[in-house]
Amino acid sequence: MSGTAEPYLASPSATLEILQRYGLHTQKKYGQNFLIDAHIPEKIREAAQIGESDNVIEIGPGIGTLTQFLAQKAGHVTAVEIDTHLIPVLEETLSEYEGIRILQGDILKLKPEELLSDGQGEGELKVVANLPYYITTPVLMWLLESDLPLSSCTVMVQKEVADRIQASPGSRDYGALSLAVQYYTEPREVLQVPPSCFLPKPNVGSSVVHMKLRNREERLPREEESRLFRVIRAAFSQRRKTLYNALRNREGALWTKEEIARSIAACGFREDVRGEALSLEDFIRLSGELG
Ligand code: SAM
Repeated sequence: MSGTAEPYLASPSATLEILQRYGLHTQKKYGQNFLIDAHIPEKIREAAQIGESDNVIEIGPGIGTLTQFLAQKAGHVTAVEIDTHLIPVLEETLSEYEGIRILQGDILKLKPEELLSDGQGEGELKVVANLPYYITTPVLMWLLESDLPLSSCTVMVQKEVADRIQASPGSRDYGALSLAVQYYTEPREVLQVPPSCFLPKPNVGSSVVHMKLRNREERLPREEESRLFRVIRAAFSQRRKTLYNALRNREGALWTKEEIARSIAACGFREDVRGEALSLEDFIRLSGELG
C-alpha cells in the first residue's frame, strides 16, 4: 500500500504557491492547465477504480496534483513528465508517497516497456491522466497501439474530443478516432469539467472519458488489424469524397480500382457511399474483402 499522506495541491493557492516558490509559470506549449478543484481528481480516481495492487501510468503529472490522489490508493504509479523544470517540484510534492516513479521524457518518444517497472504490483495496469490537449489524439493512439497490457484508460480530454470518441456513424464528429477508440475499447464519458477547475483556465470545456480495453481475443489478428486501419485512414483522408474515390486516390495506390469497386459491391454498399456512413463492423467486412 502506498503512502497515506493527504493530497494538498488541488487549490488555486497551493498551486500558485508552489509555482512561485520554484519561479515557474505554466507553459502553454506543453498544454499545462493544472487542476485546482479537489473534487475532480477525486472523481477521476473513482472512475478509474484504483485498487491498492493496481499499477497506474500517469501522463503529464504537472506539479503532482492528480498524482497525489492516485498514489494514495494505487500500489504503484509511473508518472511521465516532459517539462524538466517540474521534476524537482514533483520530487517535493510526491516525497510523502511510496511506490512512485517519476520519468522525465516525452510520452510519444518512450518505448512502451519503459513504462513497466520492477516495483509494480500484481494488480491491473491503468492509465489515468489529465492529458495535454495539443497531443491528445497521438497520445491515445500511442497507448492503444502500444501492446501494453492495459485494463483501462481514464483521461481528461477536450469536450470536443470526448464527442468524437463516442460518435456514431453518420454524425459530424464520427471519424478515424471514433473507430480506433471503439475498436480497442468501450468508451464512456463519465464527467464534464468546466474551465474554472483549471489554472490557467482553458478556452474549451473538458470531459473525463473512461475506456475499458477489450481483450486481445476480441480483436482481429495483427495483420488484419493493420489492414483495417489502413482502410479506415484512407476512407477518412478525404472526408468529402465517396468511399470509392477516397480509397482510389490514396497515395501509394494500395488497391486497384477493380478491387475497390468489387469489395464495395460485395459488402452491399451503394457505389456512392461515404466512409462516414460505415460502422466499425462495416469497415471490418470491407477490409476483409479488400484483402
Ligand atoms: N496532471 C496535472 C494536473 O492535472 O494538474 C497536469 C495536467 S496538464 C493538462 C498536462 C501535463 O502534461 C503538463 O504537466 C505537461 O507539461 C505534460 N506534458 C505535455 N506534453 C507531454 C509529453 N509529450 N509527454 C509527457 N508529458 C507531457
